[in-house]
Amino acid sequence: MSTVLVLNSGSSSLKYQLLHPDSGEVLASGLIERIGEGDGRVEHRAGDREVRRELAIPDHEAGLKVAFDLFAETGYELAQAGLTAVGHRVVHGGEVFYRPTLVDDEVLATISDLAELAPLHNPANRTGIESARRLLPDVPQVAVFDTAFFHGLPPAARTYALDTATAERYGIRRYGFHGTSHEYVSGQVALLLGREPAELNQIVFHLGNGASASAIRGGRAVDTSMGLTPLEGLVMGTRGGDIDPGVLTHLLRNGVAVDEVDRLLNRESGLKGLAGVNDFRELRKLVEADDAGARLAYEVYVHRLRRYLGAYLVELGAVQAITFTAGVGENDSGVRADALAGLERYGIAVDPERNIASGRGARAISPEGAEVTVLVVPTNEELAIARAAVAVVDG
Ligand code: AMP
Repeated sequence: MSTVLVLNSGSSSLKYQLLHPDSGEVLASGLIERIGEGDGRVEHRAGDREVRRELAIPDHEAGLKVAFDLFAETGYELAQAGLTAVGHRVVHGGEVFYRPTLVDDEVLATISDLAELAPLHNPANRTGIESARRLLPDVPQVAVFDTAFFHGLPPAARTYALDTATAERYGIRRYGFHGTSHEYVSGQVALLLGREPAELNQIVFHLGNGASASAIRGGRAVDTSMGLTPLEGLVMGTRGGDIDPGVLTHLLRNGVAVDEVDRLLNRESGLKGLAGVNDFRELRKLVEADDAGARLAYEVYVHRLRRYLGAYLVELGAVQAITFTAGVGENDSGVRADALAGLERYGIAVDPERNIASGRGARAISPEGAEVTVLVVPTNEELAIARAAVAVVDG
């Protein structure tokens, strides 16, 4: 049976998963952290075996070699694992890449060129691809882009009302991110409801460390909350989402350096900025302890969710499904209940018992027979990437 290796390369980290693309069975997975920092850490899992290592990992290629050794140690020699492809998560596909793409030198160069739009992500993605190509030269490498699902956003949804020449010169438009997750989850919703994606209007909330919402009409994304970068939209762990651009010029004029503004927006804002914690479980504990900062952070978080919900309901006109996914969306019943509270007149309701019922699978949490089905659907970006990679290789 064929397998796919899925890689998600960050600047100092590497997440990997070896899986069967048909069944979705995960054979082995792991996370390598602190690459290039002298005190690397590896966590590897295969079945019920868990291996932890601490060792210096100078670069991504060395990290991948460690992972390959661990595959062999835990029973999956890669050379005999029937590897069909390596699927790479690539954050920014710009205007160029709108479908999963077989990597060659030209594709790699273009991914590098797009680093201007995603300086934190695309260079790391490129490094991951290069390392995998060197170590597995005979296995097709496929890049799967986080922006692809939103490539066809209608002009009104993708355009910032900026001077056109400036926007064109700097590639400024709304690209959207988390596309692999939004596409996968909305596809799962259609399967669960026994309908064709083309028959459904959906709203998906991907609420993890990063968070985004999408409006999907008949299987095609018509709006999303992230824009030129993954900073726009919902409140996130360390990113604040929507902000008056005047705040930035105000900070710059007051002598705050550009890099400092960048750090503020990417790392010190959102839940962290308001409550001091970016992990939602910790936020929930503080809210329950009636911490004022945490309460405000939670209220801003929910307020923003409802604002996007309202916008997307109007944009779509009629909606058959509203779905929550990712770490917070799948696990925090309070967010789901608060985001949709008091909307019965729009056919939207959450059944309190279904909402808090434990269980990890995809499930409806709206009352039986509700006009709009509200769902919790676990996202699985690795599986989506693996299947996309196989589809490219199979032509
Ligand atoms: P992700 O980016 O999808 O891995 O999601 C990470 C976020 O999900 C973090 O803020 C976690 O605190 C949050 N999360 C994970 N598990 C839970 C849980 N059981 N309850 C609430 N939040 C959770």
